[in-house]
Amino acid sequence: MNRQRITRRRALGLIGITAACGLSGIAALLPRSPAPRVVILPTDTPAPTLGILPRAAWNARPPNHNARSERGFYGAANPFGWRDYGADYPDIYRTLVLHHSVIYRFDDLTTLRDVQDLHMNDRGWADVGYHFLIGTSGQIYAGRDLRARGTHVGGFNTGSVGVCLLGDFTQRDPLPAQMDGLLALGRWLMTQLPELTHVAGHSDFNPETTQCPGRLRLRLGEVAAALGLLHGTEGYQAPT
Ligand SMILES: [Zn+2]
Repeated sequence: MNRQRITRRRALGLIGITAACGLSGIAALLPRSPAPRVVILPTDTPAPTLGILPRAAWNARPPNHNARSERGFYGAANPFGWRDYGADYPDIYRTLVLHHSVIYRFDDLTTLRDVQDLHMNDRGWADVGYHFLIGTSGQIYAGRDLRARGTHVGGFNTGSVGVCLLGDFTQRDPLPAQMDGLLALGRWLMTQLPELTHVAGHSDFNPETTQCPGRLRLRLGEVAAALGLLHGTEGYQAPT
């Protein structure tokens, strides 16, 4: 498996997007066993070297599996339920999808709870939709467990890591410290998720419905280059 991962990354670097799509297409044909029906406890994705603040540090609510829109657990009869990738999660993720929170109230911790409340109360999701959030000082916060599918990019959540920078970048640029935090997180994710090939903005996938992540869209090529990834949606693979 490791050899396959290395080969795909190396191929992406050498022969570019067209070939990458071909390789991805081959991978898409490989059968995957269905995700086990396992409840993920609200533990945090471990990353001690990055100093990711755990959910408890921002008083996150636990996931609600009776949520209105993301009710119950994923299966053939419930495709929008909470999807636990289980031990296969490193093989699932292909794309880093970036967002801005738009809302920002008082400080990071208040805003994190506001974002989670928005997602759980208003959108009816089981938990905050993003896997990681980055505060104004570059501090990284744990969001949804990385072993679970996020809810942040309509129609393209499977295999997409959701990262949200706190703030409204409609008119202004993300803060330099936030960009530093994003790159640090990205580099760590590259070590954890060997199938990651692309970085995209939310609006790359959903251009009709959002301009998220605002002016961060102007930096996506730079972020991708810094991480050794490609910018765009071509890495996405439809769920199997
Ligand atoms: Zn977004």
